This record gives sequence, structure tokens and C-alpha cells, in this order.
Amino acid sequence: MRLATLGSGSSGNATLLDTGEGLLLIDCGLSAKEAERRMAELDLSMSDLLAILVTHEHADHIGGVSALASKSGAPVFASRGTARKLKCTYQEIRAEQEFSVPGCSVEIKPVAVPHDAREPVQFTFTLNSIKVGILTDLGSVTPHVVEEFTGCHSLLVESNHCREMLSEGPYPAALKRRILGPWGHLSNDQTAGFLKQIFALGSIPENLILGHISKENNSKTRVEDCLGDLVSKVNSLVYASQDEVLPWSNPVRNA
Ligand SMILES: [Zn+2]
Ligand SMILES: [Zn+2]
Repeated sequence: MRLATLGSGSSGNATLLDTGEGLLLIDCGLSAKEAERRMAELDLSMSDLLAILVTHEHADHIGGVSALASKSGAPVFASRGTARKLKCTYQEIRAEQEFSVPGCSVEIKPVAVPHDAREPVQFTFTLNSIKVGILTDLGSVTPHVVEEFTGCHSLLVESNHCREMLSEGPYPAALKRRILGPWGHLSNDQTAGFLKQIFALGSIPENLILGHISKENNSKTRVEDCLGDLVSKVNSLVYASQDEVLPWSNPVRNA
């Protein structure tokens, strides 16, 4: 299995998982047209999608989902709370209840996360003992999150903001409080702390992708400063971008 991102950040998230049996799209905060254009950069088209999974209803995750679903015909999977903002039919999923999509034997687990949406989840994907995780949009790292995302061979995790840059930056006070709060987004420090925890459990992903990085309140240098020597422990570390496609990470072979 391997991951690619079509876009990552507060203007639109869309992540592809190549399962070896077909493609899953996780979120589409880009317009359907833009998602289609970026998929073409990877020589992919909408007809390659087996399903669209939605983490939560914020516009940067759901914006293009309904249009893409009707264009592609791919079934949409979302929690009931998330689906209240969908304008298309969907199949209901529930946090902590594993499911699979037609035509694909990957076991998908929606994991509950603390984020200020109606019923947000993030996902792990398991096939033949290979595990991939997508973990963005959470304000704090719970023991449950650590447990569920331990053991990922490939992991996309958010490193949203630098606390100092956000605190001193131009955002309105209420928005700063929201992002910094326990239901907002992970700071670089929090992401480093999370990685330290899972690394200490012997869980070092072969491929680590850092994403949902704020353009206004973060920089690659700030992220690297916070991660310190954690960086040298992983085989491959890449940064997902808002504006450009991040091509496929190294595939982790299914056993
Ligand atoms: Zn988001
Ligand atoms: Zn969100």
C-alpha cells in the first residue's frame, strides 16, 4: 500500500491510498475539477476510485466530495454527523467499527479524534499485516489515538502550526484559541510528542508524511526544529503541500 496527497492544508485536503486492489480517496476539500486535474498528474482518473471516505465536514475536507461522487460514481463513506453536510448519498460508518469497501479487502478503521466537528474520525487501513494511517485535524493526542496509530508502516500526520508563530500572527483571537485548543489542530510540539510516544513503543513508520501544515503559521524549518533527531529515525520523511501533488510514497509491500 502507498499514499499520495493531491493537496494538504486549510485550503483543501485530498489523500489517495493505493491499496494494490484499487484506489481510495480520503477527503476532497479541493473542487472536483481541481482534484481531477491533480489526479491526472499521477496518470489517474476518477474512474480509478473505489470509494471516497470522509473524515469530517469542515470545508477543507468535504468541499468537493459531493460533486466528485456524482462525477465518479464512487460510493461515499462517512459518519452520520459528517454526512449532515453532504449533498450526496452515503454509507454510514461509525467510529471504532471496522468496515471494507466493495472490491477491496483492506480493513478500514475509523478512529474517533478530538476535533471541533460533529462526528470526526481519522482512519487506519490494514491489509495482510501492513498498516497505513491518516491522522489530521485533532487538537490533542489521546491515549486512544496513540494506541490506534501505533504500528503504522506508512503514516500521514498533521504538524499544523508553530505555537509562537500562531500566537504572534495575524489571526483573530477567537481563531487562535480554536486552533490552539484541545479540539483544534496539532502544533509542531504536539506532533513531535506524539511521534516520540509511538517511536518509544517500537513503532517507527517506514514512510512518514507530515501534512496539513499551515502556510501562515508554520514553516518547514520550524517543523524540523521541533522534530529534532526524530527525523533521522525514519527511512523516508516528506512534506505534503497545499499547492502541489505529493507523489506516491515508497510502497510498503503487503506480506
Ligand atoms: Zn482540515
Ligand atoms: Zn477540521
